[in-house]
Amino acid sequence: MNITPLHTYLPIEEGQLLMIAGPCSAESEEQILSTAQKIRSIEAIQVFRSGIWKPRTRPGHFEGIGKEGLAWLDQVKKENGFLTAVEVATPKHIESVLQHSVDMVWLGARTVSNPFSIEEIAQALKGVDLAVWVKNPINPDIELWTGALERLNRNGINKLGAIHRGFYPFEKTELRNIPKWEIPIELKRRFPDLPIICDPSHISGQRQYIQDISQKALDMNFDGLMIESHCQPEQALSDAQQQLTPEDLSKLMQSLKIRQRIGSPKDQFIEQSRHQIDSIDTQLLELLSQRMEIIKSIGRYKATNNLSVFQLERWESILKTRLQTGEKLQLSPDFIRSLLQKIHKESILAQNEIMNS
Ligand code: PEP
Ligand code: MN
Repeated sequence: MNITPLHTYLPIEEGQLLMIAGPCSAESEEQILSTAQKIRSIEAIQVFRSGIWKPRTRPGHFEGIGKEGLAWLDQVKKENGFLTAVEVATPKHIESVLQHSVDMVWLGARTVSNPFSIEEIAQALKGVDLAVWVKNPINPDIELWTGALERLNRNGINKLGAIHRGFYPFEKTELRNIPKWEIPIELKRRFPDLPIICDPSHISGQRQYIQDISQKALDMNFDGLMIESHCQPEQALSDAQQQLTPEDLSKLMQSLKIRQRIGSPKDQFIEQSRHQIDSIDTQLLELLSQRMEIIKSIGRYKATNNLSVFQLERWESILKTRLQTGEKLQLSPDFIRSLLQKIHKESILAQNEIMNS
């Protein structure tokens, strides 16, 4: 892909982090101007974001103020000197954006999940001088994410970047979206020139996790962050739980440790691979914990129905099917057997405890 380096078109130096902040949604002129003015005092933030059209999973929630909000962003740019960014999802949105002073657009997770939408948007963006950021799709499908970036790049969009906002969790997890860091790292491996920033707000879903996710992203050499901030988060019409006040955003920015970003390719390879392993291990543990919860609920059922804890046929069938799967995945039978024995033993212990309590 042919990618224009960020520092050639944004007010940042080569290697400097790009920081984007602003509310999930534009709600009123007052809210936008007041939030922007407060964020302005945070030196690290270069771009003001706001959703104007909100793609909601279910109808009946706040669906955005619409193009009226674009004039408020013009005002933010004029008053505070910010660059501005909005989400677009249709060619019509792009048409509206082009009548205003918006500098960058992003494509949301729901839109990126649909190649038809992306193709239409890519056509509409042809020959237009907007920077375009592509969020990861809802599903952890790196080909879909790559495909969206390629469709845009193929249509001459070179001011291009990716935003990692996590993936819909099929497993139970405390975060709103699982980071699956191995996926953005693989994207960076495929396209080393592509800037990738992290959106810790949509990964976290709750304010309390944002700091940790932001620091992780910086430790993994992401090129910047996009963080939701609202002058009165509790009153926000969307994503109230995850938005920070500008004051808290300022504290967060000061607390972040920005590490040396240049290492030898060899160091970077090891570092990034370790982060991939860390992320996969976390997911393994989350799955194990979920498995254990089910084991315990079966334990409670066995206790009420007076059934025995250990059932030989079930254990034999587990061993047999898992060994077959392991073989297909090129995992040695000895390893699979001893791993399963450990898991099985722990499960029996957990069920015994329930039966005897
Ligand atoms: C947003 O940035 O407010 C948004 C809707 O994000 P996502 O597409 O990542 O859900
Ligand atoms: Mn949001």
